[in-house]
Amino acid sequence: LKQGATINGALSFYFDVPRKFSPEQRRLLALVADQLGASAERAGALDLVRSENSALRRENEWLRQKVGEAEQGQRLKTEFLSNMSHELRTPLTSILGHTFLLASGQDGHLSEPQQTAIGKIDHAASALLRLINDLLELTHVNLGRAQVTVAPDDAVAIARRAAESAGSPPKDVEFRIESRAPRIPLYTDGEKACKILEKLLSNAYKFTVTGEVVLSVEGDVSSGTVTWMVRDTGIGIRPEDQRAIFDEFRQVDGSSTRLYGGTGLGLALSLRLARLLEGDLSVESVEGAGSTFVLRLPVGVSP
Ligand code: ADP
Repeated sequence: LKQGATINGALSFYFDVPRKFSPEQRRLLALVADQLGASAERAGALDLVRSENSALRRENEWLRQKVGEAEQGQRLKTEFLSNMSHELRTPLTSILGHTFLLASGQDGHLSEPQQTAIGKIDHAASALLRLINDLLELTHVNLGRAQVTVAPDDAVAIARRAAESAGSPPKDVEFRIESRAPRIPLYTDGEKACKILEKLLSNAYKFTVTGEVVLSVEGDVSSGTVTWMVRDTGIGIRPEDQRAIFDEFRQVDGSSTRLYGGTGLGLALSLRLARLLEGDLSVESVEGAGSTFVLRLPVGVSP
């Protein structure tokens, strides 16, 4: 018996006439017993593996069910957000329309305080509409319903259009577009690319008090990509926060007393749009020194 081995059974041999086993016979029988013991052990181990396997299968089934339930819940939440945004947009469009009519003076002359009040309503309602549109677009992308319209465009022109939509930088911040080539042709959904850059620029303006914001564009023929970089000299983002900011509704400062407004939707939507256009969006940042957001898109998206 080997050390540490367990006894699984006994093997008995009988002679019809009494005599002793020869050493040769003993060796042979020991060999047979060893083989039988090994087989018995293997059979036992096999039984154990079989029962552990079926326990694992049951656990897997349970987990699969839970994942299914979670996915169903996630889908219901997204459907709810999508329907809700849609329903909110209709009355809001009506508010904006009537605000415009009032402001235009068609329904009579407005006093100065009335004009100021109308201006504030328009500003707040427009911000709300932008937020609802973002939410609606994000839910469309998440539900796989977003439409990509690919057409010939120019990466430099996209940068200019985004800068125009983002408005003016803060008063102590200088903004410029940098590109070595006057034009960088590409096939993409220009509206979506422009929207991503507009969000990146708005964030750069929001989180930069002094210094500069630079939007650079570069095409790389060998890899067939265009890279836009939005570099700012703002507050920066700590390394441990740099992944989370791309999650839906996530902000570095999520407290109710936070300094900067926002919903934490912009980067989540931008990343999903970039992936939809077969590209990617990433960030490099040093806290206190500034951030650079990098949008990379292929020069030719498959239609
Ligand atoms: P929002 O700006 O509406 O909160 P975003 O998804 O655009 O949502 O951004 C998420 C968070 O990422 C911001 O709240 C901020 O904490 C951080 N962030 C984004 N851009 C910058 C930037 N240029 N500089 C510093 N922090 C940034």
